[in-house]
Amino acid sequence: MENVPVETVDVQDVDVAIVGSGFAGLAAAVRLDGAGRRDLVVLEKGTSVGGTWRDNTYPGCACDVQSHLYSFSFAPNPEWTRTFARQPEIRAYLESVVDRYRLRDRIRFGREVVACEWDGARWTVTSADGSVVRARAVVWGTGPLHLPATPDIPGLDEFTGPAFHSARWDHDADLAGKRVAVIGTGASAIQFVPQVAKEAASLTLFQRTAPWVLPKPDRPIPAVLRRLFWAVPAAQKLARALVWTRNEMLVAGFLKPSRMAVIERVARAYLDRTFADRPDLKAKVTPDFTIGCKRILMSNDYYAALKAPHVDVVTEKIVRVTGTGVQTADGVLHEVDAIVLGTGFRVGEGMGGVRVTGRDGVLLDDVWADGPHAYLGTTVAGFPNLFLMIGPNTGLGHSSMVYMIESQTSFLLDALRHVDEHGATALDTRRDRQDAFNAEIQRRLEGSVWSSGGCRSWYLDEHGRNRTIWPGYTVDYRRRTRRITPADHELV
Ligand code: NAP
Repeated sequence: MENVPVETVDVQDVDVAIVGSGFAGLAAAVRLDGAGRRDLVVLEKGTSVGGTWRDNTYPGCACDVQSHLYSFSFAPNPEWTRTFARQPEIRAYLESVVDRYRLRDRIRFGREVVACEWDGARWTVTSADGSVVRARAVVWGTGPLHLPATPDIPGLDEFTGPAFHSARWDHDADLAGKRVAVIGTGASAIQFVPQVAKEAASLTLFQRTAPWVLPKPDRPIPAVLRRLFWAVPAAQKLARALVWTRNEMLVAGFLKPSRMAVIERVARAYLDRTFADRPDLKAKVTPDFTIGCKRILMSNDYYAALKAPHVDVVTEKIVRVTGTGVQTADGVLHEVDAIVLGTGFRVGEGMGGVRVTGRDGVLLDDVWADGPHAYLGTTVAGFPNLFLMIGPNTGLGHSSMVYMIESQTSFLLDALRHVDEHGATALDTRRDRQDAFNAEIQRRLEGSVWSSGGCRSWYLDEHGRNRTIWPGYTVDYRRRTRRITPADHELV
C-alpha cells in the first residue's frame, strides 16, 4: 500500500462493511437494510454470490439439512424441489435473494479483504486490489469452511494427472473411463464418490476413518405441495417448524453420548442391511467411535457405490504420492489417472491470514494464538463493532446454520441500535464476560459426544478443545442473541 499514490486509491466510506456474500453476508445485508441501515457495502472476493454454495460444485453436491429450514425465514422458497436441495438450487436461491432485496448494487465483487484495522473510530478494510473501505462496523461473513485443506502428503505436487480439491472441482478434468483416487470420506466425499463411480473405470477410495452414515430421507417435493406453499405461506412455516423441532430434539443425545445409542442402532441396521453379502467390506466401513462425534452423514447411494466391483476401499495409511499413483504403507502403489481430495477445510486458523488489528494495535491472530474464541461466537473483546458470523462455537451437528446466522443478525442490529441510542461510536465486549461465556461453553462441552465419543474431528483443536460447536439448543442461542446484554459490553 505504501507505494500507491493516495489519489489512485479507491476509498469508500460506509456505515457497515460486510465481508462475504454467502448465507451469512446476505442475511446481514438484508436485515441491516430492512432496519433502515442502508449505508452498507458487501465485499466479495469472487465474481458471484453464494459462498460455499458457489465454491462447491462437485458432482452430487447437496445439503444435508432440510431445504425448508436451510433457507432464510424472511425469504421462504415455496419452490424447493426436494426435501434436501442440491447445490445449483441453493445457489440460485441465494441469487434470487439478492434480486428480491435489491442488494446487487451494494456488492463489490473481486474484493478479497486482506486487512482490517480499527483506528479508534472506524475500521479500515483493505482489499487485495488496494481498495479501501472505511466503516464504523464490520460484519465478517466468510464462514469457517471456505479455505480448502490440502493434505500434507509427500509427493502430491509430483502427480502428473489432474489432482484437485472437492471445493475447487476441476470440471475440465474428464474422469470418464479414468482410474480415480479419492482421498477422504467426509460429508463432501460421500456425495461425490457415487457420482464419480458412475463414470470412472475404477475408483480407489482412501479411507482414514470410517464415517457413520444414515439413510437420507431425501425425496422430491410434489408439485401439489409446492402449490400449497405458494398459496398458504403458513403451511410452509409449519413445515419448517416441524423440521426444526425434530432436529432440536437430537441435542440431548449429543450432550449425553449414551443417548446416541438409538441413532447408532439405525446406522448399524443400515450397515447390516447393505453389507449382508459383503462382511469384509462391512468391517472396513464400520466406524469405531460413537455416532455424532464426527458429523453424521446421510446418503442413499454411498454404500451402494462402495460395493460396486470397480470400487476399492483402501484403509492402509497413505505414505506418498508418486507421478502415477498413491502409495500406501503396505508398499502397494495404487496407479491412478486422477486424484480428488475430499480432505475438508482449514478450520481453526482464525481469520485465514487476514490481518485484523483492534484497539491498541492488538492483532486478532495474537489474541487467538491459543485458538479462536469469542462472545456468543460473535464479538471479540478489544475489537469494537466487529461482528463475526458463524464465529467460534456456533457450529451445529444437528440443525441449520442459517438459523444461527439469523440469530446473529438480531444481535448485530441490537448492538448497533444500542450504540446509536447512547450516542457512542462502537460496542466492545468486556473481556471478563467473554471469558465467563467461554468457560461456560467449555463446561457444557465436557462429556459431550464431540469430546468423549472417541474420535478426532475438525471440531477439536490441537489441544482437544472444541472451538467449533454450539453445545445446546438453537433456541437457546436465539434467546441469548435476541437482545444484547448491555452489562457485558462497554461503549466506545
Ligand atoms: P471433512 O468432513 O473434514 O472430511 C475430510 C476427510 O478427509 C476425512 O475423511 C478425513 O479423514 C480425510 N483426510 C483429511 N486429511 C487426510 C489425509 N492426510 N489422509 C487421508 N485422509 C485425510 O471435510 P468435508 O467432507 O469437506 O466436510 C467438511 C464439512 O463441510 C462438513 O463437516 C460439513 O460441516 C460441511 N459440509 C456440509 C455438507 C452439507 O450437506 N451441508 C456437505 C459437505 C460438507 P479423518 O476423518 O480421519 O480426519
